[in-house]
Amino acid sequence: MPFFDFKCEKCGHQFTLRVSNEEKSKVKCEKCGHSRVIQLLSPFFAPGSKADSGRRVMPGPNCEGCSSAGMG
Ligand SMILES: [Zn+2]
Repeated sequence: MPFFDFKCEKCGHQFTLRVSNEEKSKVKCEKCGHSRVIQLLSPFFAPGSKADSGRRVMPGPNCEGCSSAGMG
């Protein structure tokens, strides 16, 4: 079960809880008990993070499409 970071809309208290996806909507502020909490996206548990994966377009060794000067 992953950890999620939450922030209370009322008092601004931030806390981390280990809850399931279903229970995320039931989370209450552990400090003041307010039911309106915002889920913060943790950088540690970012699903499908789109970090730069270093994708490069490298030319192949045999570039048939290249326009070469002097070809007849
Ligand atoms: Zn609170």
